[in-house]
Formats: sequence, C-alpha cells, structure tokens
Amino acid sequence: MLQTMQNLYRRWWLKKHPINDDLWLPLTTMPILRGLNTEELERLKELAAWFLHTKAISPVQGIEFSDPMRVVLAIQAVLPILNLGFDAYDDWQEIIIYPSQFVSKTHKRDHYGFVHEGEQVLAGQARSDGPVLLSWHDVMEAPWQDGFNVVIHELAHKLDMRNGFPNGNPPLHYGMNQNHWQAAFSHAFIDLQQKARNGEYSAVDLYAATDAAECFAVCSEMFFEDPHTLNDSYPAVYQQLKLFYRQDPIRRLPRVGYGFADTVIH
Ligand SMILES: [Zn+2]
Repeated sequence: MLQTMQNLYRRWWLKKHPINDDLWLPLTTMPILRGLNTEELERLKELAAWFLHTKAISPVQGIEFSDPMRVVLAIQAVLPILNLGFDAYDDWQEIIIYPSQFVSKTHKRDHYGFVHEGEQVLAGQARSDGPVLLSWHDVMEAPWQDGFNVVIHELAHKLDMRNGFPNGNPPLHYGMNQNHWQAAFSHAFIDLQQKARNGEYSAVDLYAATDAAECFAVCSEMFFEDPHTLNDSYPAVYQQLKLFYRQDPIRRLPRVGYGFADTVIH
C-alpha cells in the first residue's frame, strides 16, 4: 500500500516537474546514450528528474553547480538503473561534488593490527557510510564512450553495497545464478591479476585487478562505455552484467572510435 502511494506520488511529481527540453535535448547526444529509443530516453529523463529531486547534491570547495551540470551528472547516474527502477538507489542520499580530484584520508590495518593513516587522490569514492564523492572534472570527462566513467564506477559500488560491504557480489535478481556470476568474475579477476603481475597488455583497465569489488565496478564502466571490448575480453562477464543491469549495450553502441557525437556541457 505504502509502495503504491509512493509510486503515485512519484508519477504525479514527475508529470509536474519534467526536465526542460532546452536542457535535456542537447544532452541526449551524449555518446554513451547512442541507440537508446524514444521510450528509453523518456524513461531516462524521468529517472534523472527524480534523481535530482530526491538526492542531495552538495557542491564543495566553491564549485558553482549549474542546471546543465546537474543534468549531465544525473543522466550518467541513472543510466545503470534504466531497467532496474529508482528503488535500486534508495539506500543512500547524497552526492558531494568537488571541482577536481580530491584528497581522501585512508586508514589501513596491517597483518599485525597496526593502523596506517595515509592520503590518496581520487576522482570518485562511494562511501559505505553514505555519500558518493565525485570530481566534476572527471564527471564531465566521463560520457565519451572511452571505457572510463567515474559516475557509473562509483554507483556500481553503491549497487554492490546493497547487501553489505562491497565485494563484487551485489544482490542478484531472481533467476540469476550465483555460481555463474562467481565463475565469470573469478575467471576475469584471475586473468587480470596475472596480466598485472606480468606487465601484460589488457584491454580492460588493470585497476580491475585490485580486488573483486573493483573488478565489478571497472567491468560495469566498460559494459556501458565500451561493451564490445568487454565482451571480446570476458564474454561470460558481459553476459552476467547483461542479466544484472537488464540492458544489452552491444546492440545499441558502435565499437569505440567510430565517430563521436558532439555534446555541449556548460
Ligand atoms: Zn572503485
């Protein structure tokens, strides 16, 4: 009952507050959106509007965050949940936007139990205690179908965290097979680790060899940015992500390097 009331309210609110077409239409030429049909773009637009309405977007360090910038962020944020529905993001509330890459403090415990404090420079971070942190410079660089997308990467971590600490095992949909998921990702992860160790070329960013959570997040980026290359490298991973995201980007996106559309970002 509560769910129905919330859905009705959402429908009512979206009807009253659509994203302005002057803002929306130029941004639909974003390369990673190529091949989406009219109905899918309309759904993406609604998800983006609801995203901007319900998530707190907090610009910090003096960055001015305009409406076009908000929509550029929202489009990339909701593309992964186009066929999952907005509830997939209902367990977190805030995105903090830095002008560029930012310093984050790290606390690592070693084998002897000592905690080492350090700092790392990041383009994005999905914190298990809540917010997603993003560098605007990297968000703006993200939607060009080059295989890298910090927004999709961090939000894949958030989907992974729906059942606890990020470990590359997000909650799977009914009908998906945990063993198939494990087999696909273990094979890719072991291969990536071997390539990293041996200094071999990898079409998939070797940051994926860091741990299982990064493997899932990096493969998710590639799934939406450069699906042909992901499928060439690890077809079983592509198949599992196709089931997980309920999308098949190979069918709509050309191979990388075949003429990008121009997108104006203010
Ligand atoms: Zn990551």
